[in-house]
Amino acid sequence: MRRLLLPQPAPIESRPLQLSSGDVSAPGSGQLRLRVLACAVCHTDLHIVEGEITPPVYPIVPGHQIIGTVDAVGDGAGDWAVGDRVGIAWLQSACGTCSFCRRGEENLCPQARFTGFHVDGGYAEIVRAEASHAFRIPPGIPDEQAAPLLCAGIIGYRSLRKAEVSPGEVVGLIGFGASAHLAIQVARAWDCTVFVFSRGARHRQLALDLGAAWAGTIDQPPPSALDRAVIFAPAGDLVPAALSLLRPGGTLAINAIHMTAIPSMPYAAIYGEKTLRTVTNATRRDGREFLALASKLGLRSTVMRYALEDAHQALLDLKQGRIEGAAVLVP
Ligand SMILES: [Zn+2]
Ligand SMILES: [Zn+2]
Repeated sequence: MRRLLLPQPAPIESRPLQLSSGDVSAPGSGQLRLRVLACAVCHTDLHIVEGEITPPVYPIVPGHQIIGTVDAVGDGAGDWAVGDRVGIAWLQSACGTCSFCRRGEENLCPQARFTGFHVDGGYAEIVRAEASHAFRIPPGIPDEQAAPLLCAGIIGYRSLRKAEVSPGEVVGLIGFGASAHLAIQVARAWDCTVFVFSRGARHRQLALDLGAAWAGTIDQPPPSALDRAVIFAPAGDLVPAALSLLRPGGTLAINAIHMTAIPSMPYAAIYGEKTLRTVTNATRRDGREFLALASKLGLRSTVMRYALEDAHQALLDLKQGRIEGAAVLVP
């Protein structure tokens, strides 16, 4: 089987991923082995490849939005069967016993392990994964459509909830990539008025096509103040800018695993009981809720498809803002 290994981080322009072949051993206790059908590309993959966040060991196979078919089931892996369609997301496992896990905050577990970071991910034809955190994918969602739901979708959904979005509110989405293009569909289903901020003209057009009431750049004043906002772009200077657009009592959530430094800002930027919070990983509950919602609402991922060996191009296109919706690798 073929896979893409990252021996050490480097700029994507230097093509640091190496195509290699090898065998994947039988699944261990509690594990599944799956044949990858599609793996969506996340901005986190780019951060890992370029060394902005660093896994504990190299080489590593990136990729944490995996749709696959179970081809072997380890002992004690629950009721999975060969041939089942399965989704593997960023949270590969959590300890289940710490105070965070017991509070339902397994996303914050200090022992949490991440796919394509602690263990090899889905830029491959075959991968092993813990059955405990595998998702059943609702029927009727094609593989390439389903893959971006697993991180972009789930984390976008958690971000809307962490931003305390209520039905009918005015919501700002800042940065319009894979996650925001799914989150807008949820917010529209909740009857929210959505304003989208993006540097990219094509991203703004996609936002309007998906039901945004207004799309502009962060320097342009939107039609009204925002009740809630989510930042999806890893640029710290967006934080004071977004806070200035919020009404008193509004909430800003940051959906980013890595962000450039947030500039100092006057206290007035957050005074008026504004809330600023981050979104960190996601729980199994987020995943189950969101996948059920995606199926019920008929969410559509806009997908740009790449062959596995073209992952460098997919990541470069992501870095340079050329992806509309989500990039998906198909082995
Ligand atoms: Zn991700
Ligand atoms: Zn734990």
